[in-house]
Amino acid sequence: MILFDSVTKVYPGDKEPALDDVSLHIEPNEFVFLVGKSGAGKSTLMKMITKEEIPDSGKIIVGGIDLDYVKKRHIPGYRRRLGVVFQDFKLLPRRTVYENVAFALEIAGMSGREIRNTVPKVLELVDLLDQARKFPDQLSGGQMQRVAIARSVARQPKILIADEPTANLDKLTTAEIIDLLKKINDFGTTLLVTTHNENIVNNLQKRVVTMKGGKIVDDQKNGGIYKLDEAQAPQKPQRIIQTPGHALKQDIVARPIQITVAPTTKPAAPVAKPTAKPTAPASKASSKPKVSSTAKQKTKKTPKRRII
Ligand code: ADP
Ligand code: MG
Repeated sequence: MILFDSVTKVYPGDKEPALDDVSLHIEPNEFVFLVGKSGAGKSTLMKMITKEEIPDSGKIIVGGIDLDYVKKRHIPGYRRRLGVVFQDFKLLPRRTVYENVAFALEIAGMSGREIRNTVPKVLELVDLLDQARKFPDQLSGGQMQRVAIARSVARQPKILIADEPTANLDKLTTAEIIDLLKKINDFGTTLLVTTHNENIVNNLQKRVVTMKGGKIVDDQKNGGIYKLDEAQAPQKPQRIIQTPGHALKQDIVARPIQITVAPTTKPAAPVAKPTAKPTAPASKASSKPKVSSTAKQKTKKTPKRRII
């Protein structure tokens, strides 16, 4: 799902690498906390995933896409397939809660009807349906972060990355946001979350990857706890050998998150409009959100390095 193989990055002007031979493999549906002191390299690792930064050496594969082959002009399309949440929310200040979510779907090419159908369901998921007409400056920090999360999951990404999503929130609100992220993970989205918050890491008992000086110094696969200050011998990273083209047919777009607005006699409708004929058996492909026709064509082909 997310694969780093010996990734190194030195920012221009820096002596020490921000990422130093980092290898990391995150499986589908994992919930991973990335912890480490300020300057450890957490945000740089996240920026590698969004292709805001590129490595000096090493390989990164995200959702089956080898990032070496995502050309500049394809980066916006690639990013739209990821869910990204930031510590400062990055909402559009002149748009309402509803419009912030709708706008994200609009630029992803969703039709007006689909948007009108999807936005209320996603706002329901984050418990903000009753705030839909408010503007960001009329919301609390926790509510703003929930809008940002709604916006990022509305397109049903398979992968959601969040860089310090609770950094600006109080304790109670932090717990709410983490609960929400956990819910999203339970729906089948892979999560990578950086944090300084020891309590949430220890309470959740998920995988915890610790960084120090650009290196991964600890990787607790299950029931991980936050332990920054212990002297930890760097583990020899397992080298992951990935043949080019392997697994590249996978799409980044997730199984739909099952969201229902109200109890109904019908089965929970996926957020995305199924594209299959009514008689066709439910298949993974039939419930995927729309992707551009070019993207569709390319994913159908035999494995290729570049699929978007
Ligand atoms: P973290 O998110 O864990 O606090 P960062 O990834 O932001 O760490 O930073 C890792 C290292 O890279 C730090 O030493 C930081 O000073 C450096 N760094 C980060 N961004 C830049 C940049 N744009 N230019 C130069 N150095 C940077
Ligand atoms: Mg950071």
